[in-house]
Amino acid sequence: MSGRRPRQNAGMAGLTKGQTERLAAAVRTLGAHYPEAHCALRGADSEFTLLMGLLLTQRTRTEVAEQALASLASIARTPDQLATIGVERIITAISGVAYPVSKASRLVQLSFALNDRHGGIVPEDQKELEDLPGIGPKIARLFLNLAHNEPTIAFDSHVLRLCRRLTGSSCSRAADFEHALSARLNAEESVRAHHWMIEHARTVCQTRKPKCGACQVANQCTGIVKRAPDKRSAQ
Ligand code: SF4
Repeated sequence: MSGRRPRQNAGMAGLTKGQTERLAAAVRTLGAHYPEAHCALRGADSEFTLLMGLLLTQRTRTEVAEQALASLASIARTPDQLATIGVERIITAISGVAYPVSKASRLVQLSFALNDRHGGIVPEDQKELEDLPGIGPKIARLFLNLAHNEPTIAFDSHVLRLCRRLTGSSCSRAADFEHALSARLNAEESVRAHHWMIEHARTVCQTRKPKCGACQVANQCTGIVKRAPDKRSAQ
């Protein structure tokens, strides 16, 4: 387990002290409820296949991305192989995911970039990762978290939604929430925080009908004040 302090994004925190403390307390509560929460992406058994898998999961259900990754990894497992098999074979292998043509093109570009800039090795530096084709801040941070146990909290739409509801903040910048959590959670909690929040956001604090009546952090959430509890979940 990494003992390093959480990395902090640039930018001023956009939350009040009270919102920051409420958010950190709620995330710790979620950690107690979901101690086994982990990344659901299976089939990634190397750093490169993990990076491929994370790219494939964008706007795609995890099960579908896993199938595509298995299909792709059966014909290409390294940047060298992926760069040479041809984009048409990649499109066929990943045809079930969203935007397969675009993602196939990005995967080829990613392979060339890894070979040209990093000798075929996936870098461990967040900025170098973000500079790779198809790899934005969210994938970079999640990769570092999963591959290297870095205390990087990745914010996708699920995590952002949960953070906004918990705090009552309208902040749209992941950096504001990340700054707040990094200031309050220790490194070990930060390594796990993404997985706790994702689990809760997907199973309880869902987009359209959050199950406030069955929510483990309802008494720490401002969202429940503004939102009528879901009647079915309260039964
Ligand atoms: S109380 Fe409702 S809005 Fe708040 S975190 Fe729980 S499910 Fe989400």
